[in-house]
Amino acid sequence: MTAKPPAPADFIRARVAADVAAGANGGRVATRFPPEPNGYLHIGHAKSIVLNFGIAAEYGGTCNLRFDDTNPLTEDPEYVAAIEEDVRWLGYDWGEREYFASDYFGRLYECAEELVRRGLAYVDDSTEAEIQELRGTVSEPGRASRFRERSAEENLDLFRRMRAGELPDGACVLRAKVDLAAANMKMRDPVIYRIRHAHHYRSGDEWPIYPMYDFAHPLSDAFERITHSLCTLEFENNREIYDWLVESLGFDDPRPRQIEFARLNLSYTVLSKRRLLELVRGRHVAGWDDPRMPTLSGLRRRGVTPEAIRDFCATIGVAKANSLVDVAQLEHSVRNDLNFRAPRVMAVLDPLKVTIANFPDGEEEWIDAPYWPHDVGKEGSRPVPFSRTLWIERDDFRLEPPKGFHRLSPGAEVRLRYAYFLRCEEAVTDPATGEVVELVCTIDPATRGGSAPDGRRVRGTIHWVSAAHAVPVEARLYDRLFLAEDPGAAEDWLSLLNPESLVVRGGGWAEPSLAGAEPGACFQLERLGYFVVDRDSATNGRLVLDRTVTLRDTWAKIAGRNDDETRSEGRFVDLGREAAAVGAAEAAEEPPPDRPAIPRDPFAGLSPDARAAAEEYRELGLSADDARVIAADPATAGFFDGARREHANPRAIAAWLVNELPPHAAGRPLAELPFGPAELAELVALVDDGTISGKTAKDLLAELARRGGSPRALVAERGLEQLSDATAVATAVSNVLGRHSDEVARYRAGETRLLGFFVGQVMQATGGRANPRLVNELLRDRLAG
Ligand code: ATP
Ligand code: MG
Repeated sequence: MTAKPPAPADFIRARVAADVAAGANGGRVATRFPPEPNGYLHIGHAKSIVLNFGIAAEYGGTCNLRFDDTNPLTEDPEYVAAIEEDVRWLGYDWGEREYFASDYFGRLYECAEELVRRGLAYVDDSTEAEIQELRGTVSEPGRASRFRERSAEENLDLFRRMRAGELPDGACVLRAKVDLAAANMKMRDPVIYRIRHAHHYRSGDEWPIYPMYDFAHPLSDAFERITHSLCTLEFENNREIYDWLVESLGFDDPRPRQIEFARLNLSYTVLSKRRLLELVRGRHVAGWDDPRMPTLSGLRRRGVTPEAIRDFCATIGVAKANSLVDVAQLEHSVRNDLNFRAPRVMAVLDPLKVTIANFPDGEEEWIDAPYWPHDVGKEGSRPVPFSRTLWIERDDFRLEPPKGFHRLSPGAEVRLRYAYFLRCEEAVTDPATGEVVELVCTIDPATRGGSAPDGRRVRGTIHWVSAAHAVPVEARLYDRLFLAEDPGAAEDWLSLLNPESLVVRGGGWAEPSLAGAEPGACFQLERLGYFVVDRDSATNGRLVLDRTVTLRDTWAKIAGRNDDETRSEGRFVDLGREAAAVGAAEAAEEPPPDRPAIPRDPFAGLSPDARAAAEEYRELGLSADDARVIAADPATAGFFDGARREHANPRAIAAWLVNELPPHAAGRPLAELPFGPAELAELVALVDDGTISGKTAKDLLAELARRGGSPRALVAERGLEQLSDATAVATAVSNVLGRHSDEVARYRAGETRLLGFFVGQVMQATGGRANPRLVNELLRDRLAG
């Protein structure tokens, strides 16, 4: 008896299977992934990649990687390289089949000429607004432009003049002559070519005209003999023109078919390259690969693996109706994957000192601790040192424990993971602040390994690190980038950014087995989450760990989900049912702090005092975001107030304080920094009066955060002043313009984009010291003449 093959997983595979069974295209399956190189790939693209490459593999077919690069204004080779890297990283290989729509410009042009010769396309001199107006509405048919009945000869002549570059941008367009009465607006003589005197990153200045998506895409598919052209639902109405073109131009056998599926939308995330670019350009994140970004490079840096992403894509499936997928589903795939990949180790991120009074000073004990819990079924362990002074998590101790708190408090006993029972004998407080600075404890030597011979029980188990052996770590705790479930739907989506999407804990300690861990290595820090070693470890002087994902879904409560399965995760579930139950109970008693709802009021949740301060800062011209962040914390507000009194540019000071300083402060409170508000004010003043560049100021800020000092003195000492002397800068400008006469000509011919290029050259020639404002002025001046 032969087993029936499994049913296709989705409607697209069902269609492909049916086509193959019917012998369509000779049984051949050819798909393509067609990104436009105008940004980095995101997790939505992963859905498309997994689908296209997956189907090709399942049906013995091929999948092309095609750069859909027909818009010269937004595309860039940097993006091409990044896209290639990401597709490869995700686990797919296009072999020799890498194509560029720009390589087809010649063939596409031929196709357009053919349409013109056959009376199926015409040159229209109407303005964009006129074309729009004449197109009609859903209830009214379109009307013919007065140029619609031009003869084929006249159209050919005009189209050739467009191609020859004789006509300026916007003078006319080439339109397909289809059907002005069509119900589908896309069929009402769509524009297929427009004039753009623009430099293309691959074809250079060869083409003054560029094809539109609706023309280039179907024909590129046809040239590559694609059989199944998969795209997202927004293109449903484009299918008719797709078919019209492919048929009109005789690509009938075999011919590609467009099939639409629902794009991936993810909650608490924006998935559009335009928006992601805005996040990068507006410095709301540190770059395309910021670990909070939904880009593949961001996810990779955050420690998410290709396997987890592919698993996620498999779970969400492919459907024909748009929906919003819960980001918790992605996190679930990530946890499942890391559970079998990340060895368990211990680190303390917010350390409180414990001295064990009955453990001799200078002695140490090495405990063999397993890397894996039982249910993972993997072998392996490492030695963990135990000594008289330990670090534990500050949060694991309460002077006055609330009901149900099973961790450490005066007189209480807990289990130290893999070691002993520990009793707190005394909490030492700083008399000045009342803050607990140290715990004096004792261990019960008979409990080594975690249980007491007398059957006595403890309910809590905490992690720890031996202070003498610990390696310093900086932990970067990431959370969702947005507070709202569907930020993309809001007009003012940037105001929905989560101000706590990154919290840096700069003063942590890890067990010594982590020393020298390579970037990309992943761990589960027990009870804290899954982490990955960041590449910044190389330059940071200590191990930098990015939190990939928490151990359980801390957002479930807000969303109304509250299943026990996720809640008990990560609480030493491998210690057996008892401990797991304790963990679950504890978790239930100490729910994560509520997240603010969508903040319509930007200062919602602030205390009355803080709100008053925030409102005052708004008056000074600060953005609502900056005002809130600064006002919310009295120490930050004090620092800000100090600085703005020294130098009257509150907006700039706020920007430096909110955006630039935190990475250097690395979790230290402002009061502990080796410099104060006056120095920050001085730094900003130096930038404002043009003495130093923003870039130099950033370097100085890093130095201030490390060692303190006076910005003005440092600038003088090192000769960091910008070249603001107009004569010196003018010489550099002349030299650059002299060396690049081609670019000068192009600029003067209208390619004003090149200004950036010239600025860059002058900056380079002056070792980065020229005042960019002055450079800009001088360049504009000289280039205009
Ligand atoms: P964005 O909307 O993010 O700018 P795009 O569609 O402009 O994306 P392209 O580079 O044109 O980006 O996309 C390449 C392929 O990836 C297309 O086939 C597109 O349909 C697909 N794709 C883009 N975003 C998603 C998504 N969110 N879910 C599924 N597929 C997507
Ligand atoms: Mg697109």
